[in-house]
Amino acid sequence: MRTRLAILGSTGSIGANTAQLAALHSDRFRVVALSADSNIASLARQVKVFRPKIVSVRDKELAFAAKKLVGNGVRVVCGVEGLSEIATRPDVDTVVFATGGHSCLVPLLDAINAKKRIALANKEALVSAGGLVMRKARQKGVTVVPIDSEHSAIFQCIEGKRRFVRKLYLTGSGGPLLDVPASRFDRLSRKSILNHPKWRMGKKISVDSATMMNKALEVIEARWLFDVEARDIEVLIHPEAIVHSMVETLDGSVFAQMSVPDMRMPILYALTYPERLKAPVAGVDFTRVKALTFRKPDLRKFPCLGLASVALERGGTCPAAMSAADEEAVKCYLSGKAKFTDIFKLVEKVLGRHRSTDRDPGLNDILAAEEWAREEVKKLCYH
Ligand code: NDP
Ligand code: MG
Repeated sequence: MRTRLAILGSTGSIGANTAQLAALHSDRFRVVALSADSNIASLARQVKVFRPKIVSVRDKELAFAAKKLVGNGVRVVCGVEGLSEIATRPDVDTVVFATGGHSCLVPLLDAINAKKRIALANKEALVSAGGLVMRKARQKGVTVVPIDSEHSAIFQCIEGKRRFVRKLYLTGSGGPLLDVPASRFDRLSRKSILNHPKWRMGKKISVDSATMMNKALEVIEARWLFDVEARDIEVLIHPEAIVHSMVETLDGSVFAQMSVPDMRMPILYALTYPERLKAPVAGVDFTRVKALTFRKPDLRKFPCLGLASVALERGGTCPAAMSAADEEAVKCYLSGKAKFTDIFKLVEKVLGRHRSTDRDPGLNDILAAEEWAREEVKKLCYH
């Protein structure tokens, strides 16, 4: 029987790659549901190809416009409720969470409650609420299969060794500013900040890669996905982006997952786990890879990376506040309201002001902390 897929965020970089893989293996996958935020033209093109039963968009106004584009026979829903409806439908087996930013925590928890298979690209949900999400997944016997390449690598390496893990190595290419002096950061155009040397991604994660906030978010993501303390997760800069992360076991053995940098590999694995299917991804040509190099990140140049351990140590809603502050700060940067180096300053300031009362916060506390952090950044940026 074909796996029935819901792709949340299908018009984005991960979502479109997922849709492409589903089309390539149409004997294995049937796309039942799609979603976009506001790009209804692109959504309508996907509807023509996949003939899903349901689509979701941001709000009622867009739903009204989308209805005209997608035609009869496709249910159109909207908002977080729309995403939750899609994620819990009885005719969906696997839900791919590929929406951007802080957009899918509630639908993710709903999908876990409904015991769906989870293919998770969105990292912000785990950063904000990793404890809550993973606890619920364990209760429901649901496996959360990560799509983020580093976490997919660890997921692939760690199987059968969870009890023996000593350390996780999280690799990162270093982003577009690796060899740019910090004094030049604010003089670079937004285009060059968005121009990642190894990956084509959405704007928010591209800016996060330039500040290296992305790696900070990934440390927190790994902490919850694999139940490993932050002090046992080491970030390594690996500009060749071939080794996607590593697991070290108690006896000193190190397991690495390697592949060319192409998100279709981890996406397809998340759709087929524990099996594998043919992906349109070449193997690594080791004779052409001159070297695989690793070095420590420069925390003075990329101070965002240091915020992961601060937020985790303070615990509670601090990671949620940090991550939401970052999302808003990135928006300010992209709209010209803030300089590139303001992103760190804004996030640091808001995280410093945040008071988390509960060490084990519930969903409402987390959502409130996110909202508070966004408002604080807006106040600082638009004063
Ligand atoms: P994109 O910006 O390319 O796509 C985001 C998708 O989500 C689009 O379909 C967009 O719709 C939709 N969307 C945006 N905001 C909302 C919202 N508030 N509610 C519902 N839908 C929304 O992002 P990426 O594909 O690059 O990233 C998606 C997620 O995956 C992020 O969390 C990112 O960190 C993570 N990720 C991405 C990687 C990559 O290679 N791109 C690698 C690893 C992780 P519309 O088109 O209408 O705007
Ligand atoms: Mg990643």
